[in-house]
Amino acid sequence: MPQRKERILQGIAASPGVAHGAFTLVSRKEVEIKDYLVEEGKEALEIERFKQGIARTRDEIEATRQQVAKSLGAQEARIFEAHLMLIEDQKFHQDVLREFYRTHLNIEYCVKIVFREYQRIFGQLEAEAFRDRALDVQDVYTRLVANLTGEQENPFKDLDGKKILITRDLIPSDSANLQKSQVLGIVTATGGHTGHAVIIAKSLQVPAVVGLSAITEQLKPSDYLLIDGNEGIVIINPTQDTLNHYERILLARKTARSTFTSTLDLPAQTRDGNALELMANLSDVSEMEAFGKSGADGIGLFRTECLFLKENRFPKEEEQFQVYKALAQGATPNPVVIRTLDIGGDKQMSLGVHSRERNPFLGLRGIRFCLRHKTIFREQLRAILRASAFGKIRILLPMISGLTELLEAKGQIEAAKNTLRADGFVFDEAIRIGIMLEVPSAVYTADLLADHCDFFSLGTNDLIQYTLAVDRLNEQVAYLHEPNHPAVLRLLKYAADAAHEKKIPISLCGELAGNALYTPFFVGIGIQALSMTPDALPEVKYLIRRLQIKEAQDIAARVLKQAHAQEVFSILKAFYFSKMDIAG
Ligand code: PEP
Ligand code: MG
Repeated sequence: MPQRKERILQGIAASPGVAHGAFTLVSRKEVEIKDYLVEEGKEALEIERFKQGIARTRDEIEATRQQVAKSLGAQEARIFEAHLMLIEDQKFHQDVLREFYRTHLNIEYCVKIVFREYQRIFGQLEAEAFRDRALDVQDVYTRLVANLTGEQENPFKDLDGKKILITRDLIPSDSANLQKSQVLGIVTATGGHTGHAVIIAKSLQVPAVVGLSAITEQLKPSDYLLIDGNEGIVIINPTQDTLNHYERILLARKTARSTFTSTLDLPAQTRDGNALELMANLSDVSEMEAFGKSGADGIGLFRTECLFLKENRFPKEEEQFQVYKALAQGATPNPVVIRTLDIGGDKQMSLGVHSRERNPFLGLRGIRFCLRHKTIFREQLRAILRASAFGKIRILLPMISGLTELLEAKGQIEAAKNTLRADGFVFDEAIRIGIMLEVPSAVYTADLLADHCDFFSLGTNDLIQYTLAVDRLNEQVAYLHEPNHPAVLRLLKYAADAAHEKKIPISLCGELAGNALYTPFFVGIGIQALSMTPDALPEVKYLIRRLQIKEAQDIAARVLKQAHAQEVFSILKAFYFSKMDIAG
């Protein structure tokens, strides 16, 4: 094993699992397209060649679509429907033919000119969705040119399955060229949590980490890599200790799952009798089945924006009411925390309701959007309030940044209640209203806010982003999205202290809630409820049942004294393994 210095790079977890080995760097070569004049009288032949190229490309895309639909599901295969639309687009055909009649240049060269223009247009648009579209255009172009020139470039043809693939990006058509047996794992320089590389890696079921922008510059040919697709980590030249550590983790992961589920029906309570609430984060009513099996004490976060984004429209009050009512009834006697619409930021609807913003995450998002669009807000509030007659519903307001905003939002809730009274509807008159603590200014004024709300819910995904000035979706700075940063830990403690002082409950519903490494810290600072994806719940509950409150408090105190994120991580990791009787 090489004895070079071990280096850890934090990327974005894309596909679970661990792999280690040598790596191979694959870069995509662009097929060179020569231009030449088509002889007079041969135009019809050239146009026929274009039609055949289109037909072959269409067949290829359709085959890939079916393959992905089978292995991953209809949702993931949708992207290929977009590719089909692109290749069948009459406007595109006309643009190429117009170019051909204008220049009399060979048809693949005309295709190149037209595609370049399309790509330029998409690439200039700021929204990430459009930049992804530019990648789709590139993909369809590559396939079509390959079919027209007969030069089929498969960049992965030499991969023999013994190495980790490092590449700038993966494009959808790669799923036809890349097989599970060809790679140990995948690391890409580009891509966020939901990009094409993630879809492909998941469908191949190989570990993957994406968004490591500088990966290619960091590697020497003889380097040995370990990738952890669960944590989004790449370790360059892992030491023997690290390798052993991961061996143990792998072994442990296999058996741990069944161990964790063994305590699922027992209360989430520490060994010395302190009970916590473990709740589920849901985005869609269809997830109620998973919720039912999870052993959760309620729904701690229902992200209503998915209802809006899914169909890209504003559902009417009645439609929303039916969904919220189903949640309330399904969760009874447990509570359901319904978060009001949190669109804006990265969650944009294409209805012309969002103005172009330079910094969408700092723009008209969450409660700011709702207070600007009061009719939409009012409709949602009425739906939530009406559903409160059917179970234990609580309202959660996202992106609150200060007291004025909270009071204005509460004014809207009061106004919605008045309209319901006037219309003769019954609802929970004392419905509890909570706020997300996900903007640092809200944490620092938590004592003021606590006087005007019933509970706090910490949103660590955004709190980390706004505290550390790190766009949570930008792979260039993903390594800085660091939960172990002392500033983040201090803010969490500050919020918990304020809640205790004001005697209002505090929960946490960011992704960290489901990461058992942090459970002792959260318990130690006095977080009373954790809300997470149902899948994560068994492990967190298992750990809580092995904790003593005093040792959790000691760990929290130790962690809060550290100056470096890495030290925090080491302490939490060591404690986790000491508690879990699994590899550490
Ligand atoms: C958060 O910010 O932690 C959170 C739970 O909200 P979302 O991820 O939906 O922004
Ligand atoms: Mg948030």
